[in-house]
Amino acid sequence: MRLTHLHWGLALSSTVPVSSWISSRSSNYGSSVIGYFNESLCRLTRLYGSNSNKSVGADSETLESLAKRLSNQKFQNVVVLMGAGASVSAGIPDFRSPGTGLYDRLQHYQLPYPEAIFDLDYYRDHPKPFVELCQEIWPGKEGGPRPTLAHAFCKILEDQGMLRRIYTQNIDGLESLAGIDTDKLVECHGHFRTSSCIKCRSTMSIDDCRREMVEKMEVPICKQCGSYVKPDIVFFGEELPSRFQELVTADTDSADLLLVMGTSLMVMPVAAIPSWVSRDCPRLLLNRERVGNFLRIQSRDVFFEGDCDDGVREICRMAGWESLLEDRFQDCR
Ligand SMILES: [Zn+2]
Repeated sequence: MRLTHLHWGLALSSTVPVSSWISSRSSNYGSSVIGYFNESLCRLTRLYGSNSNKSVGADSETLESLAKRLSNQKFQNVVVLMGAGASVSAGIPDFRSPGTGLYDRLQHYQLPYPEAIFDLDYYRDHPKPFVELCQEIWPGKEGGPRPTLAHAFCKILEDQGMLRRIYTQNIDGLESLAGIDTDKLVECHGHFRTSSCIKCRSTMSIDDCRREMVEKMEVPICKQCGSYVKPDIVFFGEELPSRFQELVTADTDSADLLLVMGTSLMVMPVAAIPSWVSRDCPRLLLNRERVGNFLRIQSRDVFFEGDCDDGVREICRMAGWESLLEDRFQDCR
């Protein structure tokens, strides 16, 4: 089965059920929507309802027991899933909020539907809206969003030699800005560090691409074929980065702790990852509500109900890492 980036509506219907993704684990993966703009999907998870308690876990695992094991460096292969919720406190502009969302600001282009701005076919004919959006979302711009406590916490895990991989659905680049090695990252929806032609795939230096899009507000043109260039973030109609498929099996097989932060777990294939780790791998969810594979808490699961930053603060308090967290946080501001 070969699946590419699908439209949002398809992902929410039964057209592509979770089970089909799980069974396709050894084949190519696709996805459904830029995770960076996942807030609306997060809200949908409330349809499932939640009677969850704060920091609920089995007798054998609690937030405190996991924090102590982190403090004692008992984990060697922590796998992190990161969604839009991990970047909320960075002030990432919401895509859809009436009056303040990016979509509203692009209304003068009369987009046929919000997600068209990330549609390859639409970009081919109407590149200007995405060029304007890049003014807002290009990572690292002066005065732009900076990493959050959640990113600083991941940096601690890396520094302590416990981080196996971060699978992020975000395209805000905050993991890199936090100093996390790109080797530790699987950016499921791509990134702004490289750019290429949408037709012949020839590469363009990212500095040149940025100069055209952000400084001149022009559409970058491919020197080889004359088509348009864009940063290598994954649009609808494009496949996920091959890195996902190359690493996900070994990463999930090796994981000794799965940490899920700020994601609705409704976007495939990332949503299936919690079901791929071994049965004895503890799973910690930091989120405003239970989602996906965590709707029924299992004995190895711990759920912290709340914002990612609050969850990270609590873990670090229990682990005796409060000053470490503050230091890392300041380092990446
Ligand atoms: Zn080209």
